[in-house]
Formats: sequence, C-alpha cells, structure tokens
Amino acid sequence: MQLVIKNLTKTYKNGVKALDDINIEIGAGMFGLLGPNGAGKSTLMRTIATLQSPDSGSITFGDIDVLNDKMALRKLLGYLPQSFGVYPKLSAEALLDYFATLKGISSKTEREAIVKEVLEITNLYDVRKKHVAGYSGGMKQRFGIAQLLLNNPKLIIVDEPTAGLDPAERHRFLNVLREVGTNCTVIFSTHIVDDVKELCKEMAILNGGRILQHSTPAQATQELEGKIWTKIIERDELEANEAMYNILSSNYNQDNTLNIRVYSDEQPSSDFKRANAQLDDVYFIALKGDIENPVV
Ligand code: ADP
Ligand code: MG
Repeated sequence: MQLVIKNLTKTYKNGVKALDDINIEIGAGMFGLLGPNGAGKSTLMRTIATLQSPDSGSITFGDIDVLNDKMALRKLLGYLPQSFGVYPKLSAEALLDYFATLKGISSKTEREAIVKEVLEITNLYDVRKKHVAGYSGGMKQRFGIAQLLLNNPKLIIVDEPTAGLDPAERHRFLNVLREVGTNCTVIFSTHIVDDVKELCKEMAILNGGRILQHSTPAQATQELEGKIWTKIIERDELEANEAMYNILSSNYNQDNTLNIRVYSDEQPSSDFKRANAQLDDVYFIALKGDIENPVV
C-alpha cells in the first residue's frame, strides 16, 4: 500500500517550523528517512503515527484518510518511538503476552503462537525468560520490534532505532528489520548514512522540516560519479583549501595529514584525484546546499 503525504506543515507553539510543506509518496519496502538532529524526523513520524496533528496537509495510506480516520490507521500500524521509556521487571515472554492481550488477542493458544513467532523473528527466543529491563540496548530495540509485530502491521515506523547501539548490536538490529521489511512498508529514521546504505531501497533526506532529496541510495550516488575529488593536505592547509574548494568532508590520516573530499564538476586542480562517489557525499551535498540556499 502506498503512503501519500501532501503539503504537510507543522509549527510548534514556540515558533519552530518542524514540517515545512512535506510532499512525498512511500511505497512498500524499506524507506530511510535521513537527517540531522532537529530535522523534523520525529515530528513527521509521530504525525504519520496519528500521535500528533499537523497544522495542514493530508496523509493517506491506501484508502485510509489517516488524519480523519486514526483508528483505521492504528490497526495497521506498528510504531517504535525514539525513546521507549522504562520497562517493568517482567520477562520478554510475559510482557509480550500482556501486550498481545491488550491488542485484543483473547485466545491463550493464539497468543502463545504469535509471541513465539515474534520472539523468533527478532532473535530473542533464547532470552525470552529474561527481564526486558536487564536487556542490552540492542535487545531492547529488537524487543520493540517484537511488540510492534504482534498485530501484524502493514505500516511500520521506527524512529532512530540504531542510535546508541554498538556495531554488533546495530548489525543484528538491521538484519531483523531487513527481514521484517520484506512484506510491508517500513519507514526508518536515522542520522547514520550507513544505515540507509545497507538497508533501504528508497530514501529521503530531511532538514529544516523540508525534503531535500528523494531517490534511491544507488541513484543518488550514481549522479555524483565523476564529481568527487580527493587530495591529501597538511592540517594547517585546511583553511586555505576551504576558501578555494567546496569541501564535503575531511578526515585525519594517521600521520596527521588530512584527506579532503571536494565536490566539483571538473578537476579542481591537477593535484586532485577522482574518487568514487559515496552516499555520505550525497548527504553532505544536500545539507550544504540547504545551508547555502536557505528558504526564507
Ligand atoms: P528530529 O527527530 O529530526 O531530531 P524533531 O521532529 O524532534 O527532529 O524536531 C524538529 C524541530 O522541532 C526541532 O527544532 C525541535 O527542537 C522542535 N520540536 C520538536 N518537538 C517540539 C515540541 N513538542 N515543542 C516545540 N518544539 C519542538
Ligand atoms: Mg527525533
């Protein structure tokens, strides 16, 4: 089912414009919403999840008019907020059984079956008897996915689930999400470019409440091919280079020199080498363009 968002705006009471005329269509599969802190990711996700109202605009999911028929959307929705709060001292299995009861599954046999299934999908079956309160960050996030799978959602929204996870936990989490995302729409927000690169069929870059770019990671990267250049410089040459070139990123080498990446249609000067474009470049160019050409 297609999620269609039209002219969505939201200005908070303090005057912050968190959503500034968002227009986007999102189809089945993994969709990555990439943006820095304060971009408006959580506001957009809470609005789609019917937890807060926009000032104007419309959202439809298939035939459902989301803003006017919240209950219809909620039946199809699985939502994992950015912070999930405190967990009671209950085992994962007991807690999921409780959530399943709340979601209206009254048959004990049915509950046992679905709880077992979601524990297996999220690789938590072996630790099902342990208290969720004592889980690691990554296990808690996978538990978050397990609970939202209980009602077999068609639209899954997960808000910055990989923030704070160590590399192994992050990897395990992304694998679970990848499996879950094969038969529904998953909208996944992150400020980590690699999350999107590894996982998402489609992506959008959000900043200042606006969609700066909507494409596939491969296509966005491909469009920059031939336009990314690198050069190794001494650290005290950075300022001079910044004045001359459109530097996207600079990384220290072990000998204290810097590797700079520059965006330019042509070779900036003979000491630059051509580099393969990366999704990081796409992200930095989008954000840089946004800062240099702000909408007033
Ligand atoms: P992100 O999730 O991308 O970090 P948010 O949607 O949380 O972005 O925030 C977008 C902007 O709106 C930020 O400037 C944030 O400070 C502001 N904001 C978020 N929630 C509120 C709120 N309840 N009241 C006022 N301002 C808010
Ligand atoms: Mg957020």
